Amino acid sequence: MLVTYDGIVVGRREIGENSCFLDILTDEQGIIEATAHGAKKINSSLLGSAGLFSYATFCLSRNRDRYTVNSARPKRSFHELGSDIEKLALGSYFAQAVKFCTPQEQSQQDSVVRFFAISLYEAEQAKDPARLRCVRSAFELRYSCMLGYFPDLRGCSNCGRFEHEEMFFLPDSGEVICGDCFDRGYGGSYYVLTPEILEAMRNIVYAKLDRAFKFAVSDGGAAVLEKITENYFLARTERTFPALDYYKGIRIV
Ligand SMILES: [Zn+2]
Repeated sequence: MLVTYDGIVVGRREIGENSCFLDILTDEQGIIEATAHGAKKINSSLLGSAGLFSYATFCLSRNRDRYTVNSARPKRSFHELGSDIEKLALGSYFAQAVKFCTPQEQSQQDSVVRFFAISLYEAEQAKDPARLRCVRSAFELRYSCMLGYFPDLRGCSNCGRFEHEEMFFLPDSGEVICGDCFDRGYGGSYYVLTPEILEAMRNIVYAKLDRAFKFAVSDGGAAVLEKITENYFLARTERTFPALDYYKGIRIV
């Protein structure tokens, strides 16, 4: 049986000299493992679509639960990522995250394939380290939402106030409390959100998918935001990612 899916290659393992297994992220079936016969041959029609981060329309033949790549039509490749080790490491972290967390059956409103493509695009286009941090934060927080872990950033959970010089984010409950309502003796974990950080987080969570990465914060704000979203994402998914440790180990600042 032949099936056609738009997908992005998020993992690749070599088999012998010429072929490989691909992990393809799809909206319809989550992650599909498919064999790409002869994909490494120089004259293979699959050569351009079988690389890591290739975004393509894949025609697959399905035999019971096994998939083989029949043909593929490339849509976009993010090969520029490969020329920057920091961006490549970040993309690898994104790939590991979707590989381990994307459910088999998709029921969410946002297309996870589109989200992943936008994440790679924004990482590829990032002009400076602070912007790359923001891309990472947007990925972690928006993807948490896509997995069903929505923080409630609409306003103070006690008085409903929308803005305050100090808003406190409680990562365990995912709520915000304003500086007037916050109990200063609170012993749990919390982060102080400046207005720019709260605005950035609201944008990531509530904007349409293609706008979720469109925000700007100061360099200092980006560093704090990154701590918040990392903590939130890892705590919710109850995982660690070797690719994340690698990314943090190699980056310059
Ligand atoms: Zn309040």
